[in-house]
Amino acid sequence: MNPHIRRVAVLGAGVMGSAIAALLAGAGLDVLLLDIVPDRLTPEEAARGLTLASREVRNRIAARALEQLRQQQPPPCFDPSDLTWIEVGNLEDDLPRLAACDWVIEAVVERLDVKQDVVARAALHLKPEAVLSTNTSGLSIAAIAEGCPPEVRRRFLGTHFFNPPRYMKLLEIIPGPDTDPAVVARMQAFSAQVLGKGVVIAKDTPNFIANRIGTYALAITLDAMAAFGLAPDEVDDLTGPVMGRPQSATFRTLDLVGIDTYVHVARHMQQALPDPAERAVFAVPAFIEEMVARGWTGEKAGGGFYRRNRETGELEVLDLATWSYRPRRRLSSPVIEAARALPSAADRLRALLQGGDRAADFAWFVLKKVLLYAAEKLPEIADDVAAVDQAMKWGFRWELGPFEMWDALGVTALARRMEAEGERLPQAVAHVASRQPAVFYERGTGGVLRCYTAAGVYRGVEQPPERISLVQLKEAGHLVAGNPGASLVDLGDGVLCLELHAPKQAIGPDVIAMMEQAADEVEARWEALVIGHEGRHFCVGANLMLMLMEAEDENWDEIDAMVRRFQQAVLRLKYLRKPVVAAPFGMTLGGGLEVCFAAARVQAAAEAYLGLVETGVGLIPAGGGTKEMALRAASRIPPGVEVRLDPFLRFAFETVALAKVSTSAQDAKRLGYLRAEDGVTFDRDRLLYDAKQAALGLARSGYRPPRPARIPVGGEPAAAALKVGVADMRLAGRITDHDVKIAHHLIRVMTGGDLPRGTEVPESYLLDLEREAFLSLIGEEKTRQRMRHMLATGKPLRN
Ligand code: NAD
Repeated sequence: MNPHIRRVAVLGAGVMGSAIAALLAGAGLDVLLLDIVPDRLTPEEAARGLTLASREVRNRIAARALEQLRQQQPPPCFDPSDLTWIEVGNLEDDLPRLAACDWVIEAVVERLDVKQDVVARAALHLKPEAVLSTNTSGLSIAAIAEGCPPEVRRRFLGTHFFNPPRYMKLLEIIPGPDTDPAVVARMQAFSAQVLGKGVVIAKDTPNFIANRIGTYALAITLDAMAAFGLAPDEVDDLTGPVMGRPQSATFRTLDLVGIDTYVHVARHMQQALPDPAERAVFAVPAFIEEMVARGWTGEKAGGGFYRRNRETGELEVLDLATWSYRPRRRLSSPVIEAARALPSAADRLRALLQGGDRAADFAWFVLKKVLLYAAEKLPEIADDVAAVDQAMKWGFRWELGPFEMWDALGVTALARRMEAEGERLPQAVAHVASRQPAVFYERGTGGVLRCYTAAGVYRGVEQPPERISLVQLKEAGHLVAGNPGASLVDLGDGVLCLELHAPKQAIGPDVIAMMEQAADEVEARWEALVIGHEGRHFCVGANLMLMLMEAEDENWDEIDAMVRRFQQAVLRLKYLRKPVVAAPFGMTLGGGLEVCFAAARVQAAAEAYLGLVETGVGLIPAGGGTKEMALRAASRIPPGVEVRLDPFLRFAFETVALAKVSTSAQDAKRLGYLRAEDGVTFDRDRLLYDAKQAALGLARSGYRPPRPARIPVGGEPAAAALKVGVADMRLAGRITDHDVKIAHHLIRVMTGGDLPRGTEVPESYLLDLEREAFLSLIGEEKTRQRMRHMLATGKPLRN
């Protein structure tokens, strides 16, 4: 279905409205951003002779919001230049311009009367078929649309983005009572394909799905903290990764969201929920009221449950007994420590359930309450358990949704234990526990995944054809080969996938061996190769630990052989007779990016952070990365055109020397890590599918591998010029002596060493220089200090 949305208006340019506008502009849409007209002049406006009738004044609120978007960190859209696609205006003069829009999103203050008024006024200007939606966090969709004519209510729905919209995957779509199902389907497809969102359909109930369950989880944790006599940092220790939740756990999350915002949402629950017992859970504890009264509302106010000590820079935690901040302390509990060491969230949760101490008892209590609540509310808030699970994973970054937890821990066993503890089982749990097997998710005929629905039956989990699951393919017998570091998986249609799965996808001998095997396989019997996987990050680079150990043992030949083998494997993929498409996402660093350089085409996720970061650990890229940056700089000059190579080379040199990491796939094009023709996929879940399509496209249009490159180098004059820049930076104290040494090695490779300017060299020449530089640097104690420091702390060392 082609959603045909090109021009969008966002009404309300506050935190959410402006950030949604940025997301839309970044997705290639034209955006009109409107807010209210100010009722008084600023002193500067008055001094400039402007009046309340001046257009500049009338548009001020939206214009300032746009200005703030330009400053915002992390950036609200993939490429800051996309912000030029946002036009600003105001809600009095510019409503007629809505007639040109395909979609109008209301994102004004969370007040029913204001929203009703804005939506009703917007409805008067909509063109036929344009969609109108509200970004309300939890007000009734039906009530907001009350004043709209029936013809508009058909096209009205909730589109609830999460903050910050660029980074939060979840979009809850909430149909109203009159919404046309075709409009829901159209917006669902558009939001996934064009905006890259994970869409969950929610029912029109207070705070919808994610905030309903998420706020309950917070509220019950606040209560339990007091009951178990724990402190906020101790609770965070228990409600973070050990329970399958993000590092920000409970109180860091509250600080980030804003404690006043939490109060607002909790109060809304209290007003909107009919059941007094449920309402009571959302009562705001006195200490939270006190924090808001003191203005300690979290990060935006300089502190909340945590505050950074100005002198030491350490994060300190609020002691609620004394209302002062103290250093954080870690909860000491053998059960928690044992659980923490386990790799999967399901295993960690199982370990917690063993109980045995106060910490584990607390974890069980919180977990039990949340699991019961999710099951109890299922029929009210969602159509099936998959919607609830996805909402919690995408909206609150839980590793497992509540129903996935029920299954992982065993529905029957949990139900028995809860009953024994005097809990009343929700109908859904009682029903599932009475079945065999007692699970919320089951595999139907043909391996189709089915889930439990609010109606008490099972139905197929909707999986769009654009979603390729390597896990499922492997379960279905499509594994072609594998070792601990990587596997080859049949994607169908003659396309093979090289899946990286070593810890952090670090590249070591296993991965290299599988790259070689992939090349053999594809050359012999496949149409194309895709390199990708479903982990968190594409690849953090070479296995640093392994390299360091070899260096500590002075196994220089071993290191040389390893680097050479990686270079050859990369080169092999580059010149393979069949097309290779790499599909990077998240962190794609060092060797991971060098693998992408080998690909005939890259299909990157929009959220891809690419960088050659070797200088940070005292090395230079030696898997062909330095060579490739020099080659790409040279190939930016059209043949036969008299343009100097130096500026291109300088840009490439600085990019590598400063270990620049792109802020998005778009930004990677600017840095030269990606080429203009490389594709970008907004929806990460579609990435493998898009990569496969790109690979098939190349294969079917008569793919021919590149001819072995000859690289014109900048030679000695270019090297001399680059070294002047390095010397200036040293003089200015911006870099260390060791940085200078690394930079000189890098310059030598990128300019071709001692050759005259313009000499054409084969790739192997620069690859030899790469290895020489790498070996020389890894022999330096300062480089090894950097490597050790990175391995120990995850941060670069300046020495
Ligand atoms: P905000 O306070 O930052 O922005 C609200 C905007 O509404 C302001 O720009 C303000 O000028 C405008 N406004 C105020 N009175 C108005 C009026 N009478 N008529 C028209 N516009 C008026 O709020 P926000 O955080 O951007 O929230 C906007 C919407 O998004 C709310 O419905 C909120 O519940 C929802 N939401 C917020 C978040 C979040 O984390 N902040 C997340 C999801 C959804």
